[in-house]
Amino acid sequence: MRRDKRVLIVGAGFAGAVHARELAEAGYLVDVVDQRDHIGGNAYDHVDRNGVRVHKYGPHLFHTSNAEVIEWLGRFSELIPYRHSVSARLPDSRLVPLPINRETLETLFDTRLSSEEEAKALLAAQADPVAEPRNADDYLRSRIGPRLTDLFFRPYTRKMWGLELEDMDPSVVKRIPLRLDYSRDYFPNDTFQVLPREGYTALFTAILDHPNISVTLNQSFDDSLRKDAGWCFNAMAIDAYFDCALGELPYRSIRFHHETRPQAEVTGTAVVNYTDTGPFTRETRWCLLPGHDSGAGTGGTTVTVEEPCSYQDNGYERYYPVKTADGRYQEIYRRYAAEAAKLERMTFIGRCGTYQYLDMHQVINQSLVQCRKWIASNS
Ligand SMILES: Cc1cc2nc3c(=O)[nH]c(=O)nc-3n(C[C@H](O)[C@H](O)[C@H](O)COP(=O)(O)OP(=O)(O)OC[C@H]3O[C@@H](n4cnc5c(N)ncnc54)[C@H](O)[C@@H]3O)c2cc1C
Repeated sequence: MRRDKRVLIVGAGFAGAVHARELAEAGYLVDVVDQRDHIGGNAYDHVDRNGVRVHKYGPHLFHTSNAEVIEWLGRFSELIPYRHSVSARLPDSRLVPLPINRETLETLFDTRLSSEEEAKALLAAQADPVAEPRNADDYLRSRIGPRLTDLFFRPYTRKMWGLELEDMDPSVVKRIPLRLDYSRDYFPNDTFQVLPREGYTALFTAILDHPNISVTLNQSFDDSLRKDAGWCFNAMAIDAYFDCALGELPYRSIRFHHETRPQAEVTGTAVVNYTDTGPFTRETRWCLLPGHDSGAGTGGTTVTVEEPCSYQDNGYERYYPVKTADGRYQEIYRRYAAEAAKLERMTFIGRCGTYQYLDMHQVINQSLVQCRKWIASNS
């Protein structure tokens, strides 16, 4: 096999797996390596001792309006419909819909709102307008007032990001939806909301099942792996590739605590966010996601509680790129990207290769577009 027909892929998550499949189908011989002992990247799942399918790195809900992405994914797994909804647990343990909707307002303010106008008027009465919001706190207080801000956003932001609302850019919270009706849809604008019937790991097994693809696990990237390859698509953290020579690109990470609870106690929505000031942000009740409980357990079911932390405190598990109001880390990333552009036969891909939070459908779409372009220009 000619070297220019051989490709090395670092990372068996969505970015790497989509590249691998497209290249294999175009006739390239593809070697995929991953430092972990499993494929699937952060979407990896497995069935635990309670007979429950658990997503090892937190709940992964697939949602998109991109029909091409859904069609591509559908080649490798049956996709079952699942529309996600979330509850917030109030300090008195009552559960209310999140994002805030009319039911949330009725419960909190112990009232009945018979129209959207009444819900709007209640919010207007709560709001504490700021002429020119300079930070996330100003923006939220202007829109929903201090009570709702302090309940739903202040403790969560502190736990999730280790930041105060006052230190965050308004753009971070501008995207947070607010409903005046009773809709509980967490992703209301996405046409397709699905889960792979047999789980994500089975989906990845099918994507990588091609005679031109070989996968090596427990293998970290090393430059020597590139010697037989005409090109390398690399999903490792871009700062780690350059030994952090231009500074670190930090991430927030999460510690996952898995608990067994009596099945009968686990009802309601699959995800419950906490509003208290403790260290935990949310819990996932896996058995409430379709196809996640095999029924093989003995009455106990698995619930996973999340505790955000810095990535240094969690074995350098990189989850969410840190975004500050002054954009200092994005500036460092741009300098790494400029260095990467000078490298021969290497493209950084995916979440950590491009230092941006990307949902699964975005990674798949980017990978399909980028890889097909590369194949066309190299044929
Ligand atoms: C807690 C959490 C919840 C999420 N929930 C959702 C959701 O509900 N919906 C959604 O659409 N998206 C969700 N995402 C985002 C989703 O995980 C990403 O879009 C997706 O995993 C990105 O794929 P990737 O291939 O870029 O990265 P990854 O999945 O991280 O894969 C990268 C792979 O590269 C490997 N690697 C890294 N460095 C090296 C190295 N030096 N040598 C060898 N291998 C290496 C890693 O081991 C990893 O397997 C969530 C993310 C997190 C963290």
